[in-house]
Amino acid sequence: MGITPEIARRYIQDGHLVLVEHGAGQGAGVLDESFGEAGCEMVGSAWEADAVVTIGPPNETARSRLTAGAWLIGLLRPLDEPRAMRSLAGTGVTAMAFETLPRTTRAQSMDVLSSQATLAGYEMVLEAASRLPRIFPMMVTAAGTIRPASVVVLGCGVAGLQAIATARRLGAVVKGYDVRASAAEQVESLGASFIDLDVALQDPSTSGGYARRLSGDDSSRLLKGIERHLASADAVITAAAIPGRPAPTLISAEAVFGMRPGSVIVDGAAERGGNCVLTVPDRVVEVGGVTIVGPTDLEARPAADASRTFARNAYELFRYLNDPATDGADDEIRDGVTITRDGRVVHPQVRALMEASS
Ligand code: NAD
Repeated sequence: MGITPEIARRYIQDGHLVLVEHGAGQGAGVLDESFGEAGCEMVGSAWEADAVVTIGPPNETARSRLTAGAWLIGLLRPLDEPRAMRSLAGTGVTAMAFETLPRTTRAQSMDVLSSQATLAGYEMVLEAASRLPRIFPMMVTAAGTIRPASVVVLGCGVAGLQAIATARRLGAVVKGYDVRASAAEQVESLGASFIDLDVALQDPSTSGGYARRLSGDDSSRLLKGIERHLASADAVITAAAIPGRPAPTLISAEAVFGMRPGSVIVDGAAERGGNCVLTVPDRVVEVGGVTIVGPTDLEARPAADASRTFARNAYELFRYLNDPATDGADDEIRDGVTITRDGRVVHPQVRALMEASS
């Protein structure tokens, strides 16, 4: 849910009327009464409001209820479904998407992608630990010493780094790999070792902090290099992504066949095609004794914390956008998040993607 009673109190203190749909907090264990006590008005539909905070994009019915000129703030999938932004523009709303928020220090408190990826990284490790037929930490017992599990994390952005931190806390020996050069230091600062492959590391400062797609040659060298490290891993967590593109392939079928029976792959990129070629979204498949899991609900699992962090991020963005001091031309955050305005798709990256896909 896009709001909690605690955050609702802040909107109300700032002078806003807060409408919450009946049952909105159910999945996160928050009852309607708690919103009522916070001063919210419970309604059947909140889509008609002057500013709507939503987790995902509105469906057709919800879209038809939006008010022209209103604000729509949420994870609207502008980079994955750029053409759908045209219908959103048609409603006359100013649609603002967290996916295109600049990844800057100033925008950190509004960064839904980071807060949700952090939770996903943690959940991926729990998923791997619960499916592995062995434990993560080393244990010295009267029956002998149990060696620690060996975990490989591929894609060390926000989710991958949290996966490393969680696996380390559970006592595993962890290795990490990312194509961004700056990830090496971050991986090592968490007590993991960085996998060195025969592929030039990228400086993504010219691409908004994001990795770029690899050339065909680099990609095959990467697959081969990773294969060697997977052969000795107990659990592999993948969280590699390139915004607006299918997930990069990092694990080939051969690499899976080379893994030890009983080992586990948790593919955090399942929703975008997967980092492993054998991943099936929302399914658990077994190949040669290796379990491959492709969960697409990772952020939703810790629903209360996901809601708490999302609501806080959304409130910070709303407050920022309402601040007259940031209302001038060329505000990096405002321009970054605004996808549609006055009936048009105005975001340059989304417009370029729309043109490329039409
Ligand atoms: P993301 O979810 O888009 O991608 C996850 C990771 O996959 C990235 O680290 C990326 O480099 C990696 N990746 C892509 N292709 C790969 C490949 N072929 N092989 C291996 N790894 C590959 O990324 P994210 O977690 O959203 O983070 C993106 C960037 O934004 C990072 O540089 C991060 O440090 C930065 N960031 C900055 C802030 C801030 O300053 N406020 C906040 C969050 C993230």
